[in-house]
Amino acid sequence: MKLIFEYRDSAAGSYISESTVPEYSLPDEYRGEDYEDFPGVSETGLCRHYSALASKTFGLNKGFYPLGSCTMKYNPKISEDMASLRGFTDIHPLQPEHTVKGCRGVLELCENYLCEITGMDAVSFAPAAGAHGEFTGLMLMKAYHESRGDYNRKKIIVPDSAHGTNPASAAMAGFGVINIPSGSDGCVDIEKLSAALGPDTAGLMLTNPNTLGLFERDILRITEMVHNAGGLSYYDGANLNAVLGVARPGDMGFDIVHLNLHKTFGTPHGGGGPGSGPVGCRGFLKEFLPGSGSKKSIGRVKAFYGNFLVVVKALVYIMMLGRDGLHDAAYNAVLNANYMMKRLGGKYTIPYNRGCMHEFVASLADLKKNTGVSALDIAKSMIDSGMHPPTMYFPLIVSEALMFEPTETETKETIDFACDVLLSLYDTAHENPEKLKASPTTTPVGRPDEARAARNPVLKYIEG
Ligand SMILES: *Cc1c(COP(=O)(O)O)cnc(C)c1O
Repeated sequence: MKLIFEYRDSAAGSYISESTVPEYSLPDEYRGEDYEDFPGVSETGLCRHYSALASKTFGLNKGFYPLGSCTMKYNPKISEDMASLRGFTDIHPLQPEHTVKGCRGVLELCENYLCEITGMDAVSFAPAAGAHGEFTGLMLMKAYHESRGDYNRKKIIVPDSAHGTNPASAAMAGFGVINIPSGSDGCVDIEKLSAALGPDTAGLMLTNPNTLGLFERDILRITEMVHNAGGLSYYDGANLNAVLGVARPGDMGFDIVHLNLHKTFGTPHGGGGPGSGPVGCRGFLKEFLPGSGSKKSIGRVKAFYGNFLVVVKALVYIMMLGRDGLHDAAYNAVLNANYMMKRLGGKYTIPYNRGCMHEFVASLADLKKNTGVSALDIAKSMIDSGMHPPTMYFPLIVSEALMFEPTETETKETIDFACDVLLSLYDTAHENPEKLKASPTTTPVGRPDEARAARNPVLKYIEG
């Protein structure tokens, strides 16, 4: 399709009425060079252009999007409606507080609900995303240890089944990262954890359920061990949709947790953001939070109150579902993932094959050995059936990994369709592997050099 700069419609500009003010010529010094062949498009053409462009983008409103660990679930439209109320949109963060009492009320109410949901005592909405929440939480840890004169706690322990942002955030917050390998059951290896703990431990960051979709077995023991060593326990709750209304990080012994409102609480992400990664903590850490008003606060991590309208949407989601609805959402997330895992397990290898939570990981190592068809080939082939591929080659502890998260908002029909496609792709891999290697065939671009496209994106229009 054409770029917007390439249109030369004869009807361009026809919707602008004749000028009724006297003509005026700019002085020469302000004039650019004459541009003969000025691009132009009619209003009809403009609408068609952007609609066509939008239709080339794959989104949740277009089809199944089982991108593991990303919770690409339906974003209720009522949340958008509420967040566009003028009382929420026509405000300024510097206006006097007594004029925005309702908005303060939204933040307080949402904070109370999130405290109840996580078992924490306070929440800050400042962080703009999950990784930003991690960073903020780690700064709380640092401030806590330093406030006690304990300057030697410079290490964060991160299991290898953690989300990739965990070690990155720890490094960014100035900690050394100790990576501990998982046990054969895919959970934290207690002996390895014990060996890693010591007087230099600032804390442990645990993604639970972990990226294999497994709920940590020894969760209470883990947090107790960290505390006994003088560290704090951090809960990566980005994927809280697996345990929402069922289990609480606070009850598991965690001191700090971040949530992704833009996953669990149904607010848009992946191009539709902005996000919000609130951080919750126990009472003894409250004074360190951004905006706590205490001298011990870690200070600002983002301007003003964070992404306020995202909080409005999340609050609507919580109030709409209520206690029972949140609990049901978690049960459906887990049910859908287990159903899909069981069906795919008929042909595909599921390495950690016990009950999963909101997601599961398949290994295509055997398929690749037998047919030459890789996880990438299967993922690309899904595109031709109108689906977004799952997360690929992550977690690193599974070779040829495909990580599926169907989410709670998909129907059995959609999940069955996806399973039918994937099972038939498995057969095609044996019968006609070349077909899968040539996929996708229905997209404008087939297979870009993924690493180069990500690291050296050329997004500029180059004429000619
Ligand atoms: C998505 C995710 C993150 C990071 O969240 P962002 O908003 O993308 O920064 C962290 N941890 C887990 C487990 C996640 O799924």
